[in-house]
Amino acid sequence: MIFILLGPPGAGKGTYSGKLIDIYKIPQISTGDILRANVKQGTELGAQAKDYMDKGLLVPDELIVALIEDRIKEADCKTGFLLDGFPRTVEQADALEFIFKKNGLILDKVINIIVDKDVLFKRLTGRRMCKSCGANFNIYTLPPKTEGKCDKCGGELYQRTDDQPATIENRLKVYDMQTSPLIAYYTKKKMLADIQASTGSIDDIVKNITEVVGKK
Ligand code: AMP
Repeated sequence: MIFILLGPPGAGKGTYSGKLIDIYKIPQISTGDILRANVKQGTELGAQAKDYMDKGLLVPDELIVALIEDRIKEADCKTGFLLDGFPRTVEQADALEFIFKKNGLILDKVINIIVDKDVLFKRLTGRRMCKSCGANFNIYTLPPKTEGKCDKCGGELYQRTDDQPATIENRLKVYDMQTSPLIAYYTKKKMLADIQASTGSIDDIVKNITEVVGKK
């Protein structure tokens, strides 16, 4: 199974992915997580990406496309994978199609996660991530059992630098201008399914996603 989670920052892509990978037994490929890991490790890619990320801007397509092309060739992607946060521009989607053709891969579905703007803002300002394992929490909607500590590994929780209000505004604008055209792009290809996620529990939303994606 190969599918894409499309949606604005704060839509919950990371949270749903965490559950979907257990259901489908496939890896989650989050370009945001990969970039953050590179920044943390001080790699060349991290150095090139950091400024864009801090400003809430998209990292240049060529860097991201190269990263994805390498990642999907790894052994754990043999039975499929879930793309979270990629593609984010029409150019990336075209490049993905080219890579799939070259490697004989077939995209099963694109899930468009729809969330109201005011809900997005609250989710982003409340978001906390684990420094050790990357798990997501939210002080409003998904608080950890112990304040500041990860339920899964006990690691320290932190707020991403790009989850500050001014940067959030920027990221939402960037989504509208550069990523939302992908809704029409994948609708035209008859790949897109909408999932309403402004309300409802995480488990219900995940269930709705699996009903659309199907089994494999
Ligand atoms: P995310 O964790 O998905 O919200 O991504 C955090 C940041 O990483 C974004 O604001 C971008 O700066 C960068 N990023 C992640 N994925 C992409 C992508 N597909 N294209 C360009 N930049 C990306």
